[in-house]
Amino acid sequence: DAERIIAPARKPEDIDAALRPKALDEFVGQKAARENLRVFIDAARRRGDALDHVLFFGPPGLGKTTLAQIIARELGVGFRATSGPVIAKSGDLAALLTNLDDGDVLFIDEIHRLAPAVEEILYPAMEDRALDLMIGEGPSARSVRIDLPRFTLVGATTRQGLITTPLRDRFGIPVRLNFYTVDELEQVVRRAAGLLGLELAAGGATEIARRSRGTPRIAGRLLRRVRDFAEARGAGAVDARIADDALTRMEVDALGLDAMDRRYLHMIADIYKGGPVGVETLAAGLSEPRDTIEEVIEPYLIQLGLVARTARGRCLNGKAWTHLGITPPAGSPQ
Ligand code: ADP
Repeated sequence: DAERIIAPARKPEDIDAALRPKALDEFVGQKAARENLRVFIDAARRRGDALDHVLFFGPPGLGKTTLAQIIARELGVGFRATSGPVIAKSGDLAALLTNLDDGDVLFIDEIHRLAPAVEEILYPAMEDRALDLMIGEGPSARSVRIDLPRFTLVGATTRQGLITTPLRDRFGIPVRLNFYTVDELEQVVRRAAGLLGLELAAGGATEIARRSRGTPRIAGRLLRRVRDFAEARGAGAVDARIADDALTRMEVDALGLDAMDRRYLHMIADIYKGGPVGVETLAAGLSEPRDTIEEVIEPYLIQLGLVARTARGRCLNGKAWTHLGITPPAGSPQ
């Protein structure tokens, strides 16, 4: 999976802080989310209060971490980041919370992966700004309450349905992020090219945008690969043809699908005659964790209308057969 050029999971090169938009006005797309955040951030600043807790949900690479950092910057407060699987014990979270400064933003990525005992610490922390700690063991154990500084928890998860109801209910501001349009990704590509000092010619940005799977992180990564390719060729500006050549070499096809996406589609087409087939069966066949299939591979294929999730399993739509260039078996769902 490390070789998957369009894998939206983070790679070290993405810690390229220079490309991250720093202000809400610099952030491209997600208009509804941006407008809502603008209102809530301004209101919190006017009142001199901490912003209500924010939950971002949506596929990887759409800007959840970036927006969390922007929120802290716009509020003029500190930013602390961690992630669900990293917090092993409730004491780790307690230490994090008690070390916050007044008004800080605490960002927890993959918040759906918090251990239940850790998650329980969060409830009073979010609701009452308090920590209930047990001191001692056995019959002499007692609970003490510690007050916490004001803080804003920003949680991120790939799907809203993954987090428990008690946790979800404690976020005052739930924000859904959607895949970006080609126009929006084109702006992301142009902005990144400007920052990288790369010249774009006719159609270059559009070609990269069209093949970025609706995801800014992928747009940035493809842009860098195309730049390497253009440099190796001694080409000056990146036009549509150079972009197409580079992306085709990387096995990113015209819809922006990569080898893994096509393996997924081929498995349903070739082995299960178009489905329905259960996600567990696909996960086993592809040797990929079920989470990766559901959170990373499927959302975009579903958005494109290539695949449908039905009660009986996954099915290919007519468009998928056309894209793969195979004739669907007689009687398969269209
Ligand atoms: P997530 O936390 O949802 O996985 P990130 O916030 O880490 O995604 O964003 C991934 C990359 O995409 C970052 O490098 C960031 O610079 C870029 N990016 C995300 N959203 C935007 C946007 N709206 N405009 C420009 N670049 C963006």
